[in-house]
Amino acid sequence: MEPAKGGTLANIPQEAENLFRSYRPDLSIASWAIRFAASHENVMLVLSGMSNLEQVKDNLSYMENFTPFTEEEYALVQKAADIINGSIAIPCTGCAYCINKCPENIAIPKYFALYNADMRELETKAWTAQTMLYSHFSEQFGKAGSCIACGQCEKMCPQHLPIREWLKQVAARFEGTL
Ligand code: SF4
Ligand code: SF4
Repeated sequence: MEPAKGGTLANIPQEAENLFRSYRPDLSIASWAIRFAASHENVMLVLSGMSNLEQVKDNLSYMENFTPFTEEEYALVQKAADIINGSIAIPCTGCAYCINKCPENIAIPKYFALYNADMRELETKAWTAQTMLYSHFSEQFGKAGSCIACGQCEKMCPQHLPIREWLKQVAARFEGTL
């Protein structure tokens, strides 16, 4: 399940995208994640979420007559994984399983996505829009700094993220609480 991590692996840093595009320009970025999962000998079924017809067609284009990864492709994916891992501050997939139990109605995945984008863009841009977006979201949802550390969200997180600790970082970044 979730070979593309809820779409996260379809939207990767430019450097990693360039690696894939230069090797196989005909393949979508998401296809690399799905083909990676399907290439393992003991994997019989890969469940990939699709939200429009384009994605269905794309999946069919390489899964109908599936060919497993070559050694070269495994090596390419390893390189891309190193680039991706180096660029993601909080490895949240955006599944949103955590938010239903939050007594403070904190928009956890939205805030984590903003934080990740901010960390990535800060390296190359003098100004980012994330603080403004955070301010907008926090008018509708609880602020990261409102977390009462009850831990309900962490019980629901399939990635076992230390959400409470990361929320402190989000609050420090966007609310200036540290
Ligand atoms: S620990 Fe914080 S973010 Fe998590 S459910 Fe409790 S109040 Fe919400
Ligand atoms: S449950 Fe975990 S991975 Fe899913 S949105 Fe919440 S923090 Fe992110």
